[in-house]
Amino acid sequence: MSLTPETAERLSAEALVRAALEAYPAACLTCSFQAEDVVVLHMARQHRPDLPVLFLDTGYHFPETYAYRDRLAAAWNLNLINLTPPLSVAEQEARFGQLYRTDPDRCCRLRKVEPLVAGLEPYDLWLTGLRREQSPTRAGLKKLETHTLPSGKRIAKLSPLADWDWKTVWAYLEVHEIPHLPLYDQGYRSIGCAPCTSLPTDPTNPRSGRWGGRKLECGIHTFDREG
Ligand code: SF4
Repeated sequence: MSLTPETAERLSAEALVRAALEAYPAACLTCSFQAEDVVVLHMARQHRPDLPVLFLDTGYHFPETYAYRDRLAAAWNLNLINLTPPLSVAEQEARFGQLYRTDPDRCCRLRKVEPLVAGLEPYDLWLTGLRREQSPTRAGLKKLETHTLPSGKRIAKLSPLADWDWKTVWAYLEVHEIPHLPLYDQGYRSIGCAPCTSLPTDPTNPRSGRWGGRKLECGIHTFDREG
């Protein structure tokens, strides 16, 4: 079946994940192991247990994130693919210093965006846990969008939780008895690399604890997007 952006907006998250996996055989999920990604992963696994789960392994994640990733990967027998940059953290810091302090855009490009766009090449559908409520930069998010990779390849990007609020995400985890990343218990609401993540400074903006307020996006969700 074909799936249009208009149809996608009308479907529930569960129905949309199912329809998309039927429409696109080569699907993957990007997963930072935050609550939203785990919800989408749980839904997708019902239909495709071997779905490739792409984790952007920047080398800068919290120890708790790595431990939770490994625990869930073992418990759910995940087809986990760790996307790593060409340079290790030690090599990058020896060559350029702590880019997350001096030039976070470049750091994100080297450790997130470039590994991601290369990692997405084999797929025609990219599942995400993005939500409109997460940030002003995501308020216009559509459930089904098309992105163009630097190679020119076009890929469908699906955000089935686009219209969910935080309470609904958390309730899904509880109803399905899915363990959460323990950092949430410390008050974190948006969790990325440790040097660039702090507790939110603005309760109305969960991503206000990212990059010390210097930026809101790392670039993996803002490269070439068509409606
Ligand atoms: S979030 Fe911070 S540490 Fe992670 S890749 Fe971006 S700048 Fe570097």
